[in-house]
Amino acid sequence: MSLKSQNFETQAVRTQTEKTQFLEHSTPMYLTSGFVFEDSEEMRAAFAEEKDRNLYSRFSNPNTTEFVDKICKLEGAEDGYAFATGMAAVFSTFAALLDAGDHIVSARSVFGSTHSLFTKYFPKWNIETSYFPVNEVDKVESLIQPNTKIIYAESPTNPGVDVLDLELLGEIAKKHKLLLVIDNCFATPYLQNPIKFGADLVIHSATKLIDGQGRVLGGVTVGKKELIREIYLFSRNTGPALSPFNAWVLSKSLETLAVRVDRHCENALKLAEFLEEHPKVNWVKYPFLKSHPQYEVAKKQMKLGGNIVAFEVKNGVKGGKTFFDNIKMCSLSANLGDTRTIVTHPASTTHSKLAVEDKLAVGITDGMVRCSVGLEHIDDIIEDLEQALEQS
Ligand SMILES: *Cc1c(COP(=O)(O)O)cnc(C)c1O
Repeated sequence: MSLKSQNFETQAVRTQTEKTQFLEHSTPMYLTSGFVFEDSEEMRAAFAEEKDRNLYSRFSNPNTTEFVDKICKLEGAEDGYAFATGMAAVFSTFAALLDAGDHIVSARSVFGSTHSLFTKYFPKWNIETSYFPVNEVDKVESLIQPNTKIIYAESPTNPGVDVLDLELLGEIAKKHKLLLVIDNCFATPYLQNPIKFGADLVIHSATKLIDGQGRVLGGVTVGKKELIREIYLFSRNTGPALSPFNAWVLSKSLETLAVRVDRHCENALKLAEFLEEHPKVNWVKYPFLKSHPQYEVAKKQMKLGGNIVAFEVKNGVKGGKTFFDNIKMCSLSANLGDTRTIVTHPASTTHSKLAVEDKLAVGITDGMVRCSVGLEHIDDIIEDLEQALEQS
């Protein structure tokens, strides 16, 4: 028995797909590659998909199903499929839905590996991508061609924390009968639900705030049933499935997503406000700072501002380098969305493969720092960044 309408936190805690065999309160781990059948008729029916049941863990597994069911509820989606990584989700979604000769319209600022898919790999199949600047969503229509199939964007973006108007993107996609695919990784389902604004599919790297503790990789795509069906068929043949172990970890992580993300956002806003006043900082970008160019849009579509703060240290490369070398507590790492605060230098690491003009086009300067604000006490986070800034 369950209540009629459940809130986000309740669904994240209470969604349990399988009845547990020994009345375990917590869903057990189903570490099995295959599943058995009573007789030949049951096996035939399963392969003919006449019955919804597990066959082989490349197709489905109780743990991955529970994780997907939760994300579907939290995103307001009909169906989904879970992947080994966020990039497996991004690649498989495109590969399942696009044909040779199709065209993508994408925001210019996307995750580094997604950018590599667009520029290095998809052209091999004659799939080309046109880009619109993140702060000019109204340019999208002028880029649409007869062979355009997908509009793609992240919001907030990595690493520039720009915010794109999802409602406007939804309207454009609907008007031109295109698929709108949103990478919702930075917001998590707790802060923003792109389907509400017209997205057909939503992708997450579960590696980030969904796990939230820097332990496992994972990815998921959720959305319209008929589209997920195509993605499922592609994936069950090509094998990017999430492992049951990682699915179990991620499903547990979702139970605490709301409380964790609340604190992440509270800390991030306090840090952003501190940095904005600091004389060694040129600029700060955080969606819920009034100075953010898309502050109004962020307020409209996000519950809170997220945990990523971008800022520029004065004195270019030298200032940036001195800042990083003087950090005492925070981690120098490329990951984000961990309990531990992480500082990254996008220009020399995650986005180093971009040409200088492409870096500048998405706001990556030599002194830019991306900070994934963690769950340490905010006073300690500020103290660490403050002493490193003093020396930069
Ligand atoms: C990390 C990330 C990905 C890729 O996820 P992995 O789990 O590392 O493969 C995709 N999109 C965004 C926005 C990300 O931050």
